[in-house]
Amino acid sequence: MDPFADTLRRLREAFSSGRTRPAEFRAAQLKGLRCFLRENKQLLQEALAQDLHKATQLDSAFIRKEPFGLVLIIAPWNYPVNLTLVPLVGALAAGNCVVLKPSEFSRSTEKILAEVLPRYLDQSCFAVVLGGPQETGQLLEHKFDYIFFTGNPRVGRIVMAAAAKHLTPVTLELGGKNPCYVDDDCDPQTVANRVALFRYFNGGQTCVAPDYVLCSPDTQERLLPALQTAITRFYGEDPQSSPSLGRIISEKHFQRLRGLLGCGRVAIGGQSDESERYIAPTVLVDVRETEPVMQEEIFGPILPIVNVRSLDEAIDFINRREKPLALYAFSNSNRVVKQVLAQTSSGGFCGNDGFMHMTLASLPFGGVGASGMGSYHGKFSFDTFSHHRACLLRRPGLEKIYSIRYPPYSPRNLRLL
Ligand code: NAD
Repeated sequence: MDPFADTLRRLREAFSSGRTRPAEFRAAQLKGLRCFLRENKQLLQEALAQDLHKATQLDSAFIRKEPFGLVLIIAPWNYPVNLTLVPLVGALAAGNCVVLKPSEFSRSTEKILAEVLPRYLDQSCFAVVLGGPQETGQLLEHKFDYIFFTGNPRVGRIVMAAAAKHLTPVTLELGGKNPCYVDDDCDPQTVANRVALFRYFNGGQTCVAPDYVLCSPDTQERLLPALQTAITRFYGEDPQSSPSLGRIISEKHFQRLRGLLGCGRVAIGGQSDESERYIAPTVLVDVRETEPVMQEEIFGPILPIVNVRSLDEAIDFINRREKPLALYAFSNSNRVVKQVLAQTSSGGFCGNDGFMHMTLASLPFGGVGASGMGSYHGKFSFDTFSHHRACLLRRPGLEKIYSIRYPPYSPRNLRLL
């Protein structure tokens, strides 16, 4: 018998119902808390006296942002310049020393980062180390003051476990399956253009790409010809010869993606060419939730469409899964977009477009739950790589005033405290 299960289930159900969200509810809870403190002051003072013999007072205070010290940045291959240099900017701006570990898959970029970049920085404070899982594992045995990892959730767990041994704080920028809800009330061609652009960009190898579409069977019927039009417009009749379509990074990733083409039924594309690691921009329909294409992050130019009968069913579908890095909702109705936003959780959200929210330096970028923890971009990068040191400075004098704190305590000085 688990003594906590009932309580935890009750609280989770209350959270899912949305009760804690309205401002009035929060204000009411805080008022309740204030009443508790006011009405039970005597009781609490007695309890504190019994437990700890305790009393405190604060002066003015300030936060001092300080560098953590030695920071490790581990990067993936899919945007190998951006995903190394953008975190590096934050780490350096905050005043840290940095070890940078690029991905072994993006070999040419890795080489430039290792051979050329250090010439531009003070090498006594900065180093690039190379290697794959084995070398990174070795590196992680050392103590760092902060670890910033971008990659997949499986490796994120390895990094976090290694960091825990030294109690090192981490930012984990992970991936997952980003849902894309398309409402019946929409212009199919506009939606198709935007979904296709962001799904097939960089050969589909983008952590915030729309991973699958959720829509009604009717909307699917209107969306399919529109997606075909968008794909032909972007990449021509023969996408393989288009200079605008990326290739899959490695043989291993290519084989994994080719396996996914067997899920559901191919409605658009489906061709592949191993010699070039080419996968055509593809749309799959009739996919089942249990098939691999709906179980793992696709990270390639394949877009499954899953049918739902209503907005509520789409929201349920999203909430039954891990919290995604990004969530998209397309609708002519502002109410629908806002409902998806209000009733789900994700690292970031964009209404009626792809990952534009990620391009703004004024917004933090990061995941939640299984899609990661912490965030960066713009000023948020500086904050991420800084320890927020809570400080209090007190004048050496005024001892007469401060002496009321000293024991032995009488009812008079307790009142003044
Ligand atoms: P990955 O997790 O395989 O590799 C990332 C880094 O970890 C690499 O430098 C690699 O050398 C290292 N690594 C791999 N296996 C390791 C192990 N066992 N022990 C220690 N280190 C190890 O990720 P990837 O394939 O390079 O990138 C794709 C993944 O990254 C996708 O899941 C994608 O969604 C995610 N991603 C997330 C973001 C984001 O900002 N949230 C951005 C880009 C990519």
